[in-house]
Amino acid sequence: MPGDLLIRSVRPWPADPGAPTVDVLCSNGTLTAFGPHLPAPPGATVVDGRNGVLLPAFTDAHAHLDSTRLGLPFRPHSAGPGLTALVDNDRRHWRADEPVADRATRTLGRTIASGATHVRSHAQVDVDSGLERLEGVLAAREAHRDRALVQVVAFPQCGILREKGTADLLDAALRAGADLIGGLDPASVDRDPVKHLDTVFSLAEKHQCGVDLHLHDDGTLGAFQIELVCERVAALGMRGEVTISHAFALSTVDDHRQGLLVDLLAEHDVAVTTVAPGARDPLPLHRLRRAGVRLGLGQDGIRDHWSPYGDGDMLGRAWQLAYRGGFRRDDQVEMCVDIATRGGAAVLGARLGLTEGSPASVVVVPGDTVTAAVMDRAPRALVVHAGRVVARDGELVRT
Ligand SMILES: [Zn+2]
Repeated sequence: MPGDLLIRSVRPWPADPGAPTVDVLCSNGTLTAFGPHLPAPPGATVVDGRNGVLLPAFTDAHAHLDSTRLGLPFRPHSAGPGLTALVDNDRRHWRADEPVADRATRTLGRTIASGATHVRSHAQVDVDSGLERLEGVLAAREAHRDRALVQVVAFPQCGILREKGTADLLDAALRAGADLIGGLDPASVDRDPVKHLDTVFSLAEKHQCGVDLHLHDDGTLGAFQIELVCERVAALGMRGEVTISHAFALSTVDDHRQGLLVDLLAEHDVAVTTVAPGARDPLPLHRLRRAGVRLGLGQDGIRDHWSPYGDGDMLGRAWQLAYRGGFRRDDQVEMCVDIATRGGAAVLGARLGLTEGSPASVVVVPGDTVTAAVMDRAPRALVVHAGRVVARDGELVRT
């Protein structure tokens, strides 16, 4: 276990500009005291928060570490339009880069240095790559095991039913260390939503693991699949263990149907993640949160063959969520930070906070207020995970 860590001179959220700074003591990986001028226990590590804003650590609730090219020479986008063209383009080129483990480890390091100590990454499992990409992400998780909690999803990027052998590979991926089973647009990709979802949930039952389903299908087709997911959650007793990523249906059905879907998600404790996409209407964030739906934020692909966007910075993605929502008021921007921190952690089954007894996974960000910190996005002064400083001034430190 880590020893004591004393963080001096920070302003815990909500962090009014004139608020006096406090010190924060972390003992055995837990926040144990807040107050002015706390005495340092013998042998404690003491670090200076330099008046920064103290937040719970960020969570990237939806990443694709297996495809990242962050840090490599920039490569112009070469895919044609549509999902099939994107998949084919990635298949043509992904082996030309350095090994997945190296790329994923570097990008996960950037993510952590930017303040996210909780990450859920999908890893493509298909008949082209087998388990190679999954193994690369598992290696990245191992390389940063003292710096972050990482969950890995066995993700059928090319569908499950279209290419023979995919279901067996997903089964093998869960035996090889994947934490959750994924899925992808059961209706529009595999054109058989019942068989796709039954395969996903039977693997979840077999391996006693959670589910994180990509669902881009919108309108009534997407809504129908949300209902199919909730039916399976109820039948298998999987409340709290299932996430729907993207869930564009929520913002593309009428208001009445949207309300019914939100209530259904809340009733079955099915979480939702968004990546604050530029080309789609934002999800009904307030409505989801009011209903008690766990809601997280993610980077999605991070500069890869799919897209040039993404840099591993979840504070930047919180800015994007606020910007896409058209938010100006501080409480609205702070809601986005809450989704990017505590919200995403809850999707991963973790409880982060800034009260005594919370896990000592926090980030210190320069800025007058939380909203100012989102707008400025200065390098993070400190990133702490499980009671240890894992990054300082935007760079990883040795643990
Ligand atoms: Zn994704």
